[in-house]
Amino acid sequence: MADIEREAMEYDVVIVGAGPAGLSAAIRLKQIDPDCNVVVLEKGSEVGAHILSGAVLDPSGLDALIPDWKAKGAPLNVPVKEDNFYMLGEAGQLRIPNFPMPPLMNNHGNYIVSMGNVCRWMAEQAEAMGVEIFPGMSCSELVYGDKGEVKGVVAGEFGKNSDGSMGDAYEPGMELHGKYVFLSEGVRGSLSKQVIAKYGLSEGHEPQKYGLGMKEIWEIDPAKHREGTVTHTMGWPLGGNAGGGSFIYHLENNQVYVGFVVHLNYKNPHLFPYMEFQRFKHHPMVADLLKGGKRVAYGARAISEGGYQSMPKMVAPGVALLGCSVGMVNVPRIKGNHNAMLSGKAAAEAAMRAIRAERSGDELNDYETEVRTGAIGRDLKKVRNVKPLWSKYGLVASLVGGGLDMWANTLGFTVLGTLKHGKSDAESTEEAAKHAPITYPKPDGTLSFDRLTNVAFSFTNHEESQPPHLTLKDPSVPVSVNLPKYAGPSARYCPAGVYEFVQEEGKDTRFVINFQNCVHCKTCDIKDPAQNIVWTTPQGGDGPNYPNM
Ligand SMILES: Cc1cc2nc3c(=O)[nH]c(=O)nc-3n(C[C@H](O)[C@H](O)[C@H](O)COP(=O)(O)OP(=O)(O)OC[C@H]3O[C@@H](n4cnc5c(N)ncnc54)[C@H](O)[C@@H]3O)c2cc1C
Repeated sequence: MADIEREAMEYDVVIVGAGPAGLSAAIRLKQIDPDCNVVVLEKGSEVGAHILSGAVLDPSGLDALIPDWKAKGAPLNVPVKEDNFYMLGEAGQLRIPNFPMPPLMNNHGNYIVSMGNVCRWMAEQAEAMGVEIFPGMSCSELVYGDKGEVKGVVAGEFGKNSDGSMGDAYEPGMELHGKYVFLSEGVRGSLSKQVIAKYGLSEGHEPQKYGLGMKEIWEIDPAKHREGTVTHTMGWPLGGNAGGGSFIYHLENNQVYVGFVVHLNYKNPHLFPYMEFQRFKHHPMVADLLKGGKRVAYGARAISEGGYQSMPKMVAPGVALLGCSVGMVNVPRIKGNHNAMLSGKAAAEAAMRAIRAERSGDELNDYETEVRTGAIGRDLKKVRNVKPLWSKYGLVASLVGGGLDMWANTLGFTVLGTLKHGKSDAESTEEAAKHAPITYPKPDGTLSFDRLTNVAFSFTNHEESQPPHLTLKDPSVPVSVNLPKYAGPSARYCPAGVYEFVQEEGKDTRFVINFQNCVHCKTCDIKDPAQNIVWTTPQGGDGPNYPNM
């Protein structure tokens, strides 16, 4: 496949990913110069199809980008009215009052939104300004220039056979070249990962940390629906087994977002994040809310949790990383969309300054300075010790210590400095023999569901004749190393049931990758203890088809 000839198209800026970061960059470029040539490429079948967020949106990013968003009809329809925080035990709950929380934790002034719908609206704004947006186009490769700079991407390759050869309907795709390329792929972007490795961008920074976020949309009994209510819980069922917690957001139309995040630095490989989520819904407080309702959608996505100290260098020759491709989530607030938007705006401004000075293909250092020292850096710096405290000392210590540290940072001083994360999430996994297996109750089919039934509600679809987009560096490792040492954790950490160890009498154990189920959460690429699984893009348009996640 080495000699494929592709047509090339030239742009000022090529943007990979139509999430809040990429779309904000596109809009800002056109605001500054309506003649700027901008293209946005999105692997989802439509903009929003792969967007999964909570989401309580802090509108500060949108305010900075499109101050008249209300007049322009942005779908921010549900202001937060009530904010609750509970510590759960198996049979009951304790409400933590809001007053000891630092002001940054307050959700008043924020909106409960579908980020999928917000992105669809942003795409309409961008297209009206002349941005070219191509959904159904996976960017599968980077294109390098003569000086080693990133000068573009390959997008839209279709029709390979399952063995990687060219099928009858093979389309080689196109090269899209830009003076600058923005990678706004979200968490653990597949091209971003290559750029970080090639240019050594994470040297001198802490490893990125992640959580796995799973989410269902429920339509509930109108009598129980309280539009604008935000509830967060911690404690049961995870207890000391892993960090994480839940969110329950009441949006419009009697719908509720029910979500659960498990920090991926858990040690016990027997832990089954998906089943923890299912078990959580049987807590009396949650079960009471959902009883009589129905689950209408399901999805999962990793969330970046490393924060300030884990942001890699975000520029290299010709390329800038935006939003969660860098990792800009404020962990205690569980919010990254506002920073994704602000990063898109900052990258666009830096690129326009460079293009006007007739530069191209170099490093947009002004962008990085703005992220680290501007609104994004200030937002993330205040909370930088919450995650390391939680990882080292557990939930209670992090609530007390992290709370005090956030207060101190809010008041302008620091006691702890900047704590380190230490190990990556893959390295945190310990051998199975050191831990007791965990028994999970069987899903009841009413409140809780088995994985494959739920995956059907992500509306995910992958053309089966293509090569699996989940590749193994060494195909022997799952059975020869991960199964005996870690009890085959991929069979549990994947929230879509992609990985299976098939044991048939008289035959060797086989490792099966059901790539058709993949919801593009990237957990396998992050958590595999051997770092042997590599997530690559399937052909464009494949993957989940989320309605209003
Ligand atoms: C469960 C969960 C709950 C969250 N809750 C909240 C919340 O309540 N509030 C909040 O503010 N934040 C929340 N976040 C964080 C927030 O979702 C992220 O910070 C935000 O999505 C980052 O935006 P982004 O544009 O960088 O990436 P994304 O939103 O991930 O968008 C990336 C886009 O790029 C596309 N893409 C990726 N790779 C390619 C490729 N190679 N080729 C073509 N297209 C590609 C993807 O399909 C996607 O559409 C939550 C996250 C999760 C997982």
